[in-house]
Amino acid sequence: MPKPPGDYRAVLLDIEGTTTSIDFVYEVLFPYARRELPGFLERTWGEPETRAAVEALTAQAETDILSGLEEVPPVPADDPDDERRAAAVRNALWQMDLDRKTTALKRLQGLVWDAGYAAGALRGHVYEDVPRALAAWKERGVPVYIYSSGSVAAQKLLFGSSEAGDLCELLAGHFDTTTGPKRDAQSYRRIAELIGLAPRDVVFVTDSLDEAWAASAAGMDTCLSMRPGNPELPEHPFPELGSLDPLVAAAR
Ligand SMILES: [Mg+2]
Repeated sequence: MPKPPGDYRAVLLDIEGTTTSIDFVYEVLFPYARRELPGFLERTWGEPETRAAVEALTAQAETDILSGLEEVPPVPADDPDDERRAAAVRNALWQMDLDRKTTALKRLQGLVWDAGYAAGALRGHVYEDVPRALAAWKERGVPVYIYSSGSVAAQKLLFGSSEAGDLCELLAGHFDTTTGPKRDAQSYRRIAELIGLAPRDVVFVTDSLDEAWAASAAGMDTCLSMRPGNPELPEHPFPELGSLDPLVAAAR
């Protein structure tokens, strides 16, 4: 098996399946949003962020209905408050059932998670080697960036209120899909440019083979994260990492 690279000047990390268990997202975060949404809407109904998120849901539902999607629960803007809340919950749950990633749904879920983290009811899962690796890279002056399909705001919540405390200060920056899709090589070129390095100076760690090929096509060194519960991968040419420790140890 190929060895992890040592000649990198920055690290780019995926979250799900890399720093954090895939289960955390599907077994903690998503059920939490599902369970807490009705109460959250009731408690925060007067707040501008909540109203804006529900407006976005209404607009998304209208778009979905116009596009011919079936069984879309509408979220009529002129309903009385309690009916509008119930409609918003129906629509959000329907989207969650379909595992949709619309901006409107993410925005609403983000608000619910935000409240959960702030109340201490949620704490972001990170594997035990992650805080150690981040601290070691910080110490060596190697900046670490995150690139995840979760929004930058959600990333900051996860790392800011992690099981190991606030890890945000160990991170140099965050990227999400507003920079580009994770399976597109161009996204990795753009990230390298934003970091101010050549792609070959950046090592990317992910559990996704598609993402690994995209980053590799852009010229980044790429390692595949092999965490418990990650899906099995077909044969590939990339170094495999059971934790971040070997990548820290390889740094020159
Ligand atoms: Mg992943």
